[in-house]
Amino acid sequence: MSRILIAEDEERIATFVQKGLNAQGFVTTIVADGQSAYDEARSMLYDLLILDLGLPLMDGLTVLRRLREDRIDIPVLILSARGSVDDKVAGLVGGADDYLPKPFAFEELLARVRLRLRGHVLEDQTVLTAGGLTLDLRTRRAHVDGVAKDLSAREFALAETLCRHKDQVLSREQLLSQVWGFDFDPGSNIVDVYIRYLRKKFGAERIETIRGMGYRLKQD
Ligand code: CA
Repeated sequence: MSRILIAEDEERIATFVQKGLNAQGFVTTIVADGQSAYDEARSMLYDLLILDLGLPLMDGLTVLRRLREDRIDIPVLILSARGSVDDKVAGLVGGADDYLPKPFAFEELLARVRLRLRGHVLEDQTVLTAGGLTLDLRTRRAHVDGVAKDLSAREFALAETLCRHKDQVLSREQLLSQVWGFDFDPGSNIVDVYIRYLRKKFGAERIETIRGMGYRLKQD
């Protein structure tokens, strides 16, 4: 099920978009300012961001630029009353995947949302690799330098998350929310325990500890 983050400060529009998307089976979250949009999108819990440009606290183009600077590659569909060519170009140059001027018909928004999600899924490989590590997402099998490794479901999920963001440092909180959901006590050391399990299976050097920040999977 795809999760969509809606960053829109006009409640009427946010609700309209949310109701429509929910009716199509999407899971949606609304944020009404740019800072919250940035914070939420960074959580990596969403498959798509629908981003208004005129937002309080941080404007949409800044949100987008900062996300891209942080190498958060969430697809972004800009939804804005600023329908000028300049704004459109600025949005696309800033790393947006699509741009829809307001007012818009819901059907058009829906078509673009589906297109973006499908594009993302197509790019989504079924085999993830990082250095000598390969993860086959269909068979749920892991290999290190061609040697099969038995992973529990949780270990696989952790390895998958690290592999999908192999050039990023992931904090314990991010790993906890991605792999275990939000039910876990943030003070829990379960992430460290599972990192230890993975290191035993993959080789300790494959997962770097970035002091005070989190973990990163080595690419080579
Ligand atoms: Ca606005």
